Amino acid sequence: MAEPLLELCGVEKRFGDFAALKGVSLTLAAGSVTCLVGPSGSGKSTLLRTVNLLETIDGGGIYLRGEMLGFTGRGDHRRPVPKKVARRQAVNFGMVFQSFNLIPQLTATENVALGPVEVLGTGRAAARGQARELLGRVGLAQRCEHYPAELSGGQQQRVAIARALAMKPSVLLFDEPTSALDAELVAEVLAVIRELAKEGYTMLIVTHELAFARDIADEVIMMDEGRIVESGPPAKILLEPETERAKRFFASVQ
Ligand code: ADP
Ligand code: MG
Repeated sequence: MAEPLLELCGVEKRFGDFAALKGVSLTLAAGSVTCLVGPSGSGKSTLLRTVNLLETIDGGGIYLRGEMLGFTGRGDHRRPVPKKVARRQAVNFGMVFQSFNLIPQLTATENVALGPVEVLGTGRAAARGQARELLGRVGLAQRCEHYPAELSGGQQQRVAIARALAMKPSVLLFDEPTSALDAELVAEVLAVIRELAKEGYTMLIVTHELAFARDIADEVIMMDEGRIVESGPPAKILLEPETERAKRFFASVQ
């Protein structure tokens, strides 16, 4: 296997007494596509949010190119990194949410240019130029000056993907990117993600689109109740799952 880009080692996350992640370990090689599947409430979104440093973790570690994220020191000396460092580390991850989360008062171009201007310190003109170029790449060259309300759900999600790309992330995280879309708009978003896979982006994608997962993923990981139940190449895990839990899950969604 190629050098790991992102590694999760025994990641634990609790909300009060409730353990949402019970020791999750996984590895993403640079340029690989991993699809995360599993029933509602199994911890998929929590996992993405811990990677993205939107949640702190209670055990284990997350490493990007060998650097531990979110903490410094070891064992009892481990402590959270300063906010400024956490923000710098979070920039490595581009997140695409189910609900787009665009800013309604800003045009498509302004939505995409905002992060580079505010966080990376890119000049306004350069950021807008880059935004228009990225919007072209996701098939929205004609929609740059539209506001979110003037765009379809599929177009809004493509703006959200362009916004994630604008930050030049090391890893793209998608949380059910097509779940909020009408059936006829799903394909245009999946096509963009497929294109990004071809371009070599490293991606971790939570999805219920199993045909898409089979097509695009190097590895499919199934979670249940805060643990990885089974993982492997899509042809293996989707067609010949070994565990009863995975068999039941795939039978229920297909
Ligand atoms: P999935 O994305 O697989 O549907 P989630 O990661 O959203 O699952 O949630 C996993 C579990 O953690 C669920 O039982 C959920 O209710 C719980 N959970 C998630 N976020 C919080 C939170 N902020 N506070 C308390 N419980 C939470
Ligand atoms: Mg979720």
